[in-house]
Amino acid sequence: MKHMSELNLSNKRVLIREDLNVPMDSGRISDDTRITAALPTIQQALSQQAAVILVSHLGRPKAGEFDPQFSMLPVANRLSDLLEQDVAVIKDWHKGVDVAPGQVVLLENIRFEAGEKSNDDDLSQQLADLCDVFVMDAFGTAHRAHASTTGVAQFAPTACAGPLLVKELTALEKGLKNPAKPMLAVIGGAKVSGKLQVLHALVDKVDKLIVGGGIANTFIKAAGFRVGQSLFEPDLVDEAKQLIEKAKEAGNEIPIPEDVVVAAEFSADALAEVKSVDEVTDNDMILDIGPKTAALYAYIAKQAKTVVWNGPVGVFEFPQFSRGTQLLAEGIAQSGGFSMAGGGDTLAAIAKYGITNNISYISTGGGAFLQVLEDKPLPAVTMLEQVADR
Ligand code: AMP
Repeated sequence: MKHMSELNLSNKRVLIREDLNVPMDSGRISDDTRITAALPTIQQALSQQAAVILVSHLGRPKAGEFDPQFSMLPVANRLSDLLEQDVAVIKDWHKGVDVAPGQVVLLENIRFEAGEKSNDDDLSQQLADLCDVFVMDAFGTAHRAHASTTGVAQFAPTACAGPLLVKELTALEKGLKNPAKPMLAVIGGAKVSGKLQVLHALVDKVDKLIVGGGIANTFIKAAGFRVGQSLFEPDLVDEAKQLIEKAKEAGNEIPIPEDVVVAAEFSADALAEVKSVDEVTDNDMILDIGPKTAALYAYIAKQAKTVVWNGPVGVFEFPQFSRGTQLLAEGIAQSGGFSMAGGGDTLAAIAKYGITNNISYISTGGGAFLQVLEDKPLPAVTMLEQVADR
């Protein structure tokens, strides 16, 4: 891949794909991490007197029509504040964009375009026509072969990787290729189905694979215990059994929680009760790991030299079921090794427990982070590699 840092951007028209897909709450940005993560790239281009055109998606609007609810305007306003210069939103950019060296504009939500998600050649060409250099910097969408992430690189005069994308890939490579041992992966969250590939990819790479949340419930069932009313996936119990065996064959372990926190219902004011895993009844719903298990997992995390973390181990949004995720998070924070975390809920947990500065690398990607853990190439990166000699 060509890197943006190697190129002379002076007086060039530079189109930068960023992941500015921030969470919104009633028209306001509720977390601007992705905007601040993109800033160094934008500032680097501006410092070279590039004419900067930014492009991103925001949310999931219906393709082919404008919807003010998904407009990039709040993002442009936040960028204006942070960059201390005007950032206009350009709605009709298809026939060209007026932007001078040292200026920044932001194209309107690219998912308003019918051809974005289908990676349409015409849309890709239109985007490429806007620039001298295309910079792919949106790690969070690098797993999607869309017009603004992949197609455009095929047609742009020069296409390269931006500093944020390079930083993400370098950190992941450090953690995954020749990791310091022992290595721990924590894969939590609601469903096994979404993370099956990643479990298979990690099981013989790590020394311990801790599963949490609804995923752990499927493994508890596979180990022969009752899970009552808990969220679990009956169709994947056999798959979980195979994964447990695969771990054993590789000399690794997928630990089964010794104790759990249960309730009679899924609600913010449900009464929590700690039970040994073999005491769970048909009426119980498992919503967190128990204190003994949490202490053990935190100890394992502290000993690990490499930790990869995606997904909470309980319903951490409700205080009475958040203790397991909190203790584990603190264990990861105290491990002296290299720790990496990614995914929306994981980032929320990291912020909630105040351990941001203790995690070696916090990824801006969720799906892309998982795809790298799965050892699968990212289409946008593959494309940059293909056009590197242009
Ligand atoms: P995911 O998006 O797959 O990473 O799942 C994250 C969500 O899983 C969070 O909102 C958690 O509240 C939820 N979760 C974690 N543990 C459980 C559990 N035991 N039962 C139901 N949901 C859970």
